[in-house]
Amino acid sequence: MATTTLPDAEIAEARNEAKTAAKSAEKKSAATKYVYSFGGGKADGNGKMKDVLGGKGAGLAEMTNAGLPVPPGFTIQTEGCREYMRSNAVSKDLDRQMNEALAALENLQGQKLGKGDNPLLVSVRSGAKFSMPGMMDTILNLGLNDQSVEALAKRTGNPRFAYDSYRRLIQMFGNVVLDIEKSVFDKIFDAKKKQKKAKLDTDLDAKALQEVILEYKKAAKKHAKRDFPQDPQEQLVMARDAVFRSWQNDRAKTYRRINNIDDMLGTAVNVQAMVFGNLGDTSGTGVGFTRNPANGTKEFYGEFLLNAQGEDVVSGVRTPVPILELEKIMPDVYNQLRDITTRLEKHYKDMQDFEFTIQDRKLYMLQTRNGKRTGLAAVRVALEMVDEGLITKEEAIFRLDPNQVVDFYVARLDEKDAKLEDVLTSKGLPASPGAVVGQIVFTADEAVEKAGHDTEKNPVILVRAETTPEDISGMEVAVGILTSQGGMTSHAAVVTRGMGKSCVAGAGEIAVDERAGQMRARGQVFNAGDWITIDGSTGRVLRGKRNLLPPDPENLAKLEHFMSWAEPFRTMGVRANADIPRDAEKAREFGAEGIGLCRTEHMFFAHDRIQHMRAMILADNEKDRRKALKKLLPFQRKDFIGLFKVMEGLPVTIRLLDPPLHEFLPKREQLMVDIASLPSASPKQKKTLVAEYKEYGVKGAGDLKKVLSALLARVEELHEFNPMLGHRGCRLGITYPEITEMQARAIFEAAVEVEKKGIKTHAEVMIPLIATVKEMENQGAIIRRVAEEVFKEKGKHVHYLVGTMIELPRACLVADDIAKDAEFFSFGTNDLTQTTFGFSRDDINKVLPTYLAEGILKQDPFAAIDQEGVGELVEIGIQRGRKTRPKLEVGICGEHGGEPSSVEFCHRVGMDYVSCSPFRVLTARLAAAQAAASEKLNIDGGRTK
Ligand code: PEP
Ligand code: MG
Repeated sequence: MATTTLPDAEIAEARNEAKTAAKSAEKKSAATKYVYSFGGGKADGNGKMKDVLGGKGAGLAEMTNAGLPVPPGFTIQTEGCREYMRSNAVSKDLDRQMNEALAALENLQGQKLGKGDNPLLVSVRSGAKFSMPGMMDTILNLGLNDQSVEALAKRTGNPRFAYDSYRRLIQMFGNVVLDIEKSVFDKIFDAKKKQKKAKLDTDLDAKALQEVILEYKKAAKKHAKRDFPQDPQEQLVMARDAVFRSWQNDRAKTYRRINNIDDMLGTAVNVQAMVFGNLGDTSGTGVGFTRNPANGTKEFYGEFLLNAQGEDVVSGVRTPVPILELEKIMPDVYNQLRDITTRLEKHYKDMQDFEFTIQDRKLYMLQTRNGKRTGLAAVRVALEMVDEGLITKEEAIFRLDPNQVVDFYVARLDEKDAKLEDVLTSKGLPASPGAVVGQIVFTADEAVEKAGHDTEKNPVILVRAETTPEDISGMEVAVGILTSQGGMTSHAAVVTRGMGKSCVAGAGEIAVDERAGQMRARGQVFNAGDWITIDGSTGRVLRGKRNLLPPDPENLAKLEHFMSWAEPFRTMGVRANADIPRDAEKAREFGAEGIGLCRTEHMFFAHDRIQHMRAMILADNEKDRRKALKKLLPFQRKDFIGLFKVMEGLPVTIRLLDPPLHEFLPKREQLMVDIASLPSASPKQKKTLVAEYKEYGVKGAGDLKKVLSALLARVEELHEFNPMLGHRGCRLGITYPEITEMQARAIFEAAVEVEKKGIKTHAEVMIPLIATVKEMENQGAIIRRVAEEVFKEKGKHVHYLVGTMIELPRACLVADDIAKDAEFFSFGTNDLTQTTFGFSRDDINKVLPTYLAEGILKQDPFAAIDQEGVGELVEIGIQRGRKTRPKLEVGICGEHGGEPSSVEFCHRVGMDYVSCSPFRVLTARLAAAQAAASEKLNIDGGRTK
C-alpha cells in the first residue's frame, strides 16, 4: 500500500493541532454524562433516549424503571463511540464515570468484578440506535480469570459450568478484542473433542475444559503476542474499546449501507451483571416476539434452549424449542414471561422482540425492542392493533416501511408443480416469505461471483448450515437463503426478513457440507450450480426449477385496507414510467395516476421497427431520413393510441427521442472484424452475415462488402468520445427536426383518434436534456406547429402541454428562463445526478463500493437522491421555474421517484408528482402519504425500524 511521508514541520504542526483538538475535547467532555446506570428499580435514562443509549440501553432503562426483573448494569453512551472514532481513545472523564458506575454496581450486587468468593461477572454488549442484529460484538462472562473461575466453580458447585464459561470468555475476548481468528479456537476445541471421543460440546468434562483453557491461553499468547489479561479491570476497558471499534467493522458498515443507517451515530456499550442460562436444566435462555413476525398473527411466539447461554439461540448453532414448551417445563416462569411481555407491548404500543434468561428458575429480561417483521406482518399487526384500541389509524400508517410493500407481491409456489417426489423437505422453517428458484451456492463469495451484477439473470440461493454476519454480502445478492440449522430468530431469518428476501431456515433434514460444496437431502446429492426451489412462506425445499405463482389475494386485500387509511393524507401525485400499454395497465392496477415518462426510443427496438429506425439513422440526407420516419410513424401512433386508451384521460408524458443514435447500430469493432474476415468467409459464414445485416439493407452475399463498408463509415461518423454528453436529447431534434415532427405528429394523430372515440386524452410532450431556453423554444415551436397542422387536418383540437425534462445543472440555474416556454418540468434525476457529480451512471460501480466503504458517499446517489447537492439544484430549479410560472407542474421521473427517502424529499420541495416503475408505484404512494401525514400531524414518522 502506498504511504505518504510528511515533512517534519508538517508532522509537528499536525501533532499540535491534534493536541489542541484533544484539549478542547477534554474540556467539552467534562460536562458530558457518559455513563447511565440502571438497577435496583431505577435507571438514569429512559426508553426515549435511543440516540444516547442505543436501542438496547434505552430498553433496559425503561424496563428497570417499570420494575421488571432486569440484571443491573450501566450504559456507556454513543458519544463515547463517536469520540473513540475521532481520536482512537476515550476521554479520562468517561473512564472516571465508568469506574464510578462499576463501583455502584458492585455495591448494589455486593460483589466485586472478578474478585472474592462470589465474583461479579458482566456482559459487555453493543447497542446502537437502530438494531443491527449480530453485526457488532459482544463479550460474555467478563471478570473471569484463573482465580475467579475457581471461586465460581466452588460457589455454583459446578466446576464444568465455571470452566466452560471461562473458555468461552477467552474465545470471545481472543476473537473480538485480540483479533485472533475464530478458527484458531475452533481447531483446539474440535481436537479436544476428538481426543476425548466427545460427540457434543457438552460431553467435554471439567478436566477436558481446563485443558482447553490452557491451550486457548497459549494460542492467545502466540497470535496476539500478549497474555490473556488476568486483571478484570483491564478486561473491561479493552472489551469496551473493542465494542466501540466493532461499529466500524466491515459487516456493520455493509449493514448500515444496506439499511441506510448513518455512519456517525455510533454504538453504546452496555455493561450488565451476568445471569446464567447454562447452570443446568433449571436454567435456560430464549428470544421471542409478542406476535408472529412472519405473518403478524397474534400469538406468543419464540424459542428457547435449556441449559444454554445467550448466543446459542440467536447464532443458530443449536435448533431451539418453541416457547410454548416452556409452559410445561416451568409454568410459573412461563406465565411471568407472558405477563411481562404483554405489558411491554402495551407500554410500547408495538410488537416486541425480547430476550430473556432463566437462572435457576428465576426470570430475567435482557432486552426488549420493537420487533422487525415482514411487510405482511407489519400490516396485519397495524390493522389489529387499531382494532384492539392500542394505536390510532394515524399511528398505524407509519407502521409499514414503504419498501416492504413488495412482500405482498412475492411469488408463491404453484402447488400443482410441488409433487411429493420433488420435495426435499417440508419441515424447514418459513423464515421469510416468497418462493424463489435459483442455483445453489455454498459461500458468500461464490454467491457474489455467480450472481455478478444481475441477480435476476443469475439467481442464486445461498445454502449454508447457518449464516453468520460475515455472509452479508452473499445474502445481499442471493434471491433466497436456505439453512439447515437455526430457528426463526436465527441470523438468516432476521436478516432476510429485513431484506424482504425469501428464506427457509433450520431445514434439519438437509445436510449441508460447505467445505465439500455439497448438500444432501433424501439420499440425493446436490452440488454448487444445481437448481432448487425454496418456499419461504411454508418452509419447503424442492429440487429443480418449480413453477411459481403470483401473490395471495387475501393479503393484498389487507394491504388495500391499510392503504385506505394512509392514502387520504397524500397530496403528491404518483405516476408511472411506462413505455407500452401492458406496463401502463400494470401501473394503473397499482394506482398510478398517469404516466410520468414514456421513453419513446424503447418502442423503436421492437423487431418490426428497428429496421426503419436504422434506415433513418443511416440516411445521409433529409429526404431518405423522412422516408424512413414515415414508416415509423404508424408504429408510434399505434403505441400512443394504446397508451391513451389505457390511461383514459390521465396525463401521459411522452418524451421525444433521447439516446445517442449509435445505440441502434452495430459496434464499430464488430463491423471491422466482419469486414476483415469477409474475403476468407465460407458460404455458410456469409449466409450468417447476410441474415445478421439484413436489417441494414443487405440482400445477398454480394451486397455484404458494399453495405458493411458504408455501415462502418456511418458508425465512425456517429462515433463519439462521450456519447452521454453528445448528440442526444433535444440536440437530436434540433439537428434533425424531422424526427421531432414525426413524433409530434404520431402523438397528436393518436390523441385525436382516441378522443374521436369518446376517450379523453391528456398528452404532455416532453423534451429531453434542455440546457437553454432557445433549445426549448426551437423544439416547442415545432411541436406546437405540428399540433395545429394535425388539428386542422383532422378537424379536432385536443388539450396538451409542452414541457421539458430538467437533467442538467444549467437548466436548474436558468429554470426561470426555460419556464417562459416550458409548461411543465420533470426532473430527470438520473442524468441530473450524472451531470452534477460528473459520475458516469453506467460506470459508477467501479468506484462506488470503495466510496461507500470509505464513507466518502453514504449511499448510492443513483438510488437515493443526494439531497445536499442534486437536491439543492432541484429546489433551485423549482423555485426559479415557479417564479416565472407560479402554477408550473413539477414532477420527477428519475429512478429516485420510487425510493422512499427521495419521495419524502420530493414532497418537501413541493413537487406535484413522482413517477417510478409500475412495481414501485405502491411504495411511492405510501411514502408520499407518510410524508404528508407526518407533516400534517406533526409527527416524526415513527416508522418501525
Ligand atoms: C433521467 O435522466 O432521470 C431519466 C429519467 O431519463 P433516462 O434515464 O432515460 O436518461
Ligand atoms: Mg435522462
